[in-house]
Amino acid sequence: MSRGVFGDLPNPVKYDGDDGITPSERGEVDAMEGNELTPHIQEMKRVLGDKIDEEQLAAELDKYLNDYHVNIESAKRGIIRKYGGADASSFATSATVVKKIADLSGSEQNVDVLAKVVYVESKNITVKGLNKTIVSGILGDETGTASFTLWESGSVMLDKGSVYYFRNCYCKLWNERVQINLGNRGRVEPAPNVSLNVPDRSITLSSQECKIGDIREGMGNVTVTGKVLTTEARKINVKGEEKMVYSGLMADDTGKIQYSAWHDFGLKAGETICAKNAYIRAWKGIPQLNMGDRCEISRVDAVFDIQEGGDSKKTVGDIARIGGGLDITLEGLVVDMKNGSGLIKRCPQCNRSILNGVCTAHGQVDGIPDLRLKVVLDDGTGAIGAVINRADTEKLTGISLKAAEGLAAARGEGIVAREMMGRILMRRITITGNVMSDDFGPSMIVRSAAPVEVDLESEAEKLLEEVEAAL
Ligand SMILES: [Zn+2]
Repeated sequence: MSRGVFGDLPNPVKYDGDDGITPSERGEVDAMEGNELTPHIQEMKRVLGDKIDEEQLAAELDKYLNDYHVNIESAKRGIIRKYGGADASSFATSATVVKKIADLSGSEQNVDVLAKVVYVESKNITVKGLNKTIVSGILGDETGTASFTLWESGSVMLDKGSVYYFRNCYCKLWNERVQINLGNRGRVEPAPNVSLNVPDRSITLSSQECKIGDIREGMGNVTVTGKVLTTEARKINVKGEEKMVYSGLMADDTGKIQYSAWHDFGLKAGETICAKNAYIRAWKGIPQLNMGDRCEISRVDAVFDIQEGGDSKKTVGDIARIGGGLDITLEGLVVDMKNGSGLIKRCPQCNRSILNGVCTAHGQVDGIPDLRLKVVLDDGTGAIGAVINRADTEKLTGISLKAAEGLAAARGEGIVAREMMGRILMRRITITGNVMSDDFGPSMIVRSAAPVEVDLESEAEKLLEEVEAAL
């Protein structure tokens, strides 16, 4: 059995392809500190130009911070969106600083590093079914070394022994070691006139122990300890041959992941296992733990307090680094509602949403009415698109399908979305579901949603008036 065959394992995660969302915001946002507002106002001024003067900006910022109780990042994005600045996602915030490797804490979201390439290799990985080359290795300066990954290597060629500026990096802590990452905002610039003395250090590239919540696409071999939540054995057809595939869910205190194996390891729900030398593949950003030929399973006594229906709380910033995952809970403010929200019609055969009575797969059909919200949730670390189903749409907006149909019949279909927008915008909610990523960024298909009880009603009303005045 080869890796190639193993790679064909079907992914049992259910996903209704219709409900994809294309959030305009990316999840990467820079952490900010301090209460000094002037630099923030000037940053916004640079983006907005003459559309608004500084006094108005200061007043807006004060309102967002003190009346709406949003944090500074969400406030800035909201104001820029409101005054029609360029796409808020391209709005890079805090000025980056050059840090020494030993000074990196592992939580930097936007940092420049001047370092020598100690070791470098290219790897081919599969992202969303496409082959992609990433570059990884070890960087060093006078203070220490750290592993790095260029996720968008493009045409960058790194020479071992040469010194470069690695701009707009984000860092992560893994096994108490700092990792330096360059995403699509990252940049590499040669620094030919700089020489750096890097202290010697032994380099190991073996299977690394990690927590389930830290697992992401592009990791190599991992060793994971977790509780088996479910097991399933199915017969599938691989190139005309029947094979058994063993899969299920496992979890630790940081998250939940789906595992798959061709070999029957005899896993039982409820036991805690250590899977050594498993490897990661991802589907739409959702990592999957594959127990391949080299994987060794042992039973351990670790205790995790996890229920099968349990979820794990994360931030949008976490998602931006991980890519996706199962049963993730996020809390944040609804900062936008997208087209395709409100009263929609679905094809009775395939359940896709249809436009003007025509399904792209089944032609003219008699559509079934449904409710849906496509929103952008901002939790201060970033923004994510979320698609909310009918029951939760009814719960969050107080508008039932019946009421929506009545409203549409009396006052036109557009009124439903507009009415919902007034009731959902700037509301704080929690959402739980599976998160996946595509070229437009992360999005969640929401399984359950609930309002967070804060007394923001009067603020929300005020905001609604403003939004309506701006429409
Ligand atoms: Zn259809």
